[in-house]
Amino acid sequence: MDIFVCLLFSVIGGSLVDTHINTSEQIGVYIEDSDLGHQEVVLDAMNYWKRRLSVNFKLVNNMDDADIVVRWTENIQGKGEFNGRGGYIVMSNSHAEIVLEYFDNSLEWWLYGKRTLRRVATHEFGHALGLQDTNKLGDVMNPKGIRIPNEKMLKVVGFVLPLLSIFMVMSIVKHYVSYLRAKRKRFELEKFMKENGRITKNH
Ligand SMILES: [Zn+2]
Repeated sequence: MDIFVCLLFSVIGGSLVDTHINTSEQIGVYIEDSDLGHQEVVLDAMNYWKRRLSVNFKLVNNMDDADIVVRWTENIQGKGEFNGRGGYIVMSNSHAEIVLEYFDNSLEWWLYGKRTLRRVATHEFGHALGLQDTNKLGDVMNPKGIRIPNEKMLKVVGFVLPLLSIFMVMSIVKHYVSYLRAKRKRFELEKFMKENGRITKNH
C-alpha cells in the first residue's frame, strides 16, 4: 500500500503545491553521516520548516524508513540550482533525496560554508515538502537569493586571506620591535643624562 498520500496544502504566500510526502504525519529524515557542523545545518533547516509549516520530523536510522534522505558529496558536478553548486533534490515515488555539497576545507566552511549550506538545505527541504521556487525578495525559496562564490573566487580568497594575516602578524611584530627599540633608546638616554649629570656635579 502506498503510504505516501498526495495532498494539497496551502503554503505561506498562498500558492498551492502538491507533495508526495504526507506532511500531516511525522516525516522520517535520514541524514548520511557527517561532522557535527554539517549535521547542524540540516537540523536548522528542519527546524525552520517545523516552525513555518507546523510539520514534524523524526530522524530515522534506516534509509528505507525515510521520507527524506540527506546525502553529502564533495562535488555536485554542476547539478545545483545555485550556479551549479550547493545542492539539489531528486524526488522519487518513495522519497525525496537531497544532495548537499560537503565543505571539508575549514577556511571555506568558516567563510561562507555554514551560512550558505544552511540556506541551501532549507531551500531543498522546502522542495521536499512541496514548495516551489519563488522570486520573492528575501524568501528562502527564491534560488536567486542564494549566491555561492565560484571556485575561482574561493581560490583567490583562500590565497589572499592567509597572506593578509601574515602581513598583519608582521606589522604587529614590526610595531612591537620599534616600541622595544624606542624603549631602549630612552633608557640609554636617561642613563646618559644621569651619568652626565653626575659628572657635571662632580666637577
Ligand atoms: Zn529551488
